[in-house]
Amino acid sequence: MSSWQFAQPPTTCFTVSRLTNTVFKIVEDDMYRELPFIYVKVYPHSILILDTGCGGAARDPTVHLKSLRQFIETWPIIDNAGKPINERGRKPYVVVQSHLHYDHICAMEQFTGSTIVASSYSKLFVTSDLATHSLCRSLGIRTPNYQITKWAGDCDFLTHNNFDLKIQVLHTPGHTPDSLALWDEEENMLYVGDTLYEWAPTIFPNEGDIVDWLGSMDKLYAFVKEKTTFLIQEQSSNTEVYINCGHVTSYGPALEILGQMNEFTLAILRGSVPIMGESIKRGERNVVYGRQGTDRFVVLCPERLILEARDKLEIVV
Ligand SMILES: [Zn+2]
Repeated sequence: MSSWQFAQPPTTCFTVSRLTNTVFKIVEDDMYRELPFIYVKVYPHSILILDTGCGGAARDPTVHLKSLRQFIETWPIIDNAGKPINERGRKPYVVVQSHLHYDHICAMEQFTGSTIVASSYSKLFVTSDLATHSLCRSLGIRTPNYQITKWAGDCDFLTHNNFDLKIQVLHTPGHTPDSLALWDEEENMLYVGDTLYEWAPTIFPNEGDIVDWLGSMDKLYAFVKEKTTFLIQEQSSNTEVYINCGHVTSYGPALEILGQMNEFTLAILRGSVPIMGESIKRGERNVVYGRQGTDRFVVLCPERLILEARDKLEIVV
């Protein structure tokens, strides 16, 4: 047995991989098992962050580094020539929230003083009762205290310090009223937050709206279709648009995934997908369509949202 004291290498609740030339995907291993995806895009003069995760509520509380900002500024990354994403925090941040759920906003306080962007679609939803809308209250989590500094309109392009980030904001209400997507026109990448993903239930909270969501899905599908047609006409070397979600799915074929998910949800509304499970969440009966753990698409939502959507769309089952 050796008497040497070996230093332990530092540990963290974040893992990181390079998604594109300019974007890193960080995944937080959190105690709620959300495993949120945090996307960080590097510009010459700025760092754009889409969502901030669960605020370091690590599944393993003994890990050394739990601060997202510290991770971005200090953690050496093999895919980045051994350097942190934003060494010594030299570049200022623009932080965008795809929507206000706790697993996307709980590290926002670490970026106080930075530009913080949210959808302008329903400011009141964001500014009133964040504790309830973020789900912090129902989970017994302290609600983060931060200020939105820029309300992004639908189709707005983001700028930072007069620098064009070449990122377009698309309002996509449905999962929540404030849900948004980002379109990276230089890399043909669409970032959609929790609007959908594969291999895990796409969840609607009590504040969700399936008719709005279908409208947003149609909008995203048409948007991607138009971009794909343009890329084909331009004889671009890559004509695929990729979709990147808040959980599970990244770098997926956007058009195919959007189309399949839309079909699945319409089949639910027509009554052709059986309910596979039910539970009471925040006082409402929630139902599960699809088999969790095996099906590519699963929807978990308050049953009320399905009944309301059938009513509004005049679908008789
Ligand atoms: Zn969400």
